Amino acid sequence: MDDRDMGTDLEKVLLSQEQIETRLTEMAAEIDADYAGREVLLVGVLRGAVMVMADLSRKLHSPVQMDWMAVSSYGSGTKSSGVVRIIKDLDTDLTGRDVLIVEDIIDSGLTLSWLLGNLRSRGPASVEIATLLRKPEASKVAVDVRYVGFEIPPEFVVGYGLDYAEKYRHLPFVGTLAPHVYGG
Ligand code: 5GP
Repeated sequence: MDDRDMGTDLEKVLLSQEQIETRLTEMAAEIDADYAGREVLLVGVLRGAVMVMADLSRKLHSPVQMDWMAVSSYGSGTKSSGVVRIIKDLDTDLTGRDVLIVEDIIDSGLTLSWLLGNLRSRGPASVEIATLLRKPEASKVAVDVRYVGFEIPPEFVVGYGLDYAEKYRHLPFVGTLAPHVYGG
């Protein structure tokens, strides 16, 4: 932890800045090999994926464009509602494009299955998914996630883009919160 550990708010560091950096370098190499110089349209899901997008994209050698979508699937709590709403749509026409969705975390997978269906209906050449984190629940959803950074335990995590009530997104590592933060 560093001096941004918010005093006693954080319980433990699950993934250090160094571990994330190393894994993103490996993922970028895989992506470059798979796309073999084809232009990739990276679609970032706001707001959690901002850090992954920034760090992963800077490691890619393939030609890249970026666009962003904002969807809501969580309220201020920690459980997926299953209801997905587009808050900001893409500005890019997906027809014939090789789309790579960049996600921070897949938990229930509900957000992602919805997003996949939505983007596939827009006529892209391909749609793949890269996520930094995946929880075990996600295996129940029949979605093929091509690039996974880390499989993590079913705990609520913050940092590296991920928030709790809009806090902790700026932390350079992924960690869990102490129970008292939830009112526990
Ligand atoms: P899903 O639909 O896969 O259950 O949830 C996807 C979204 O829920 C993620 O993009 C993220 O915004 C939020 N989410 C899921 N698990 C966590 C978590 O452990 N921590 C945080 N901060 N957000 C999470």
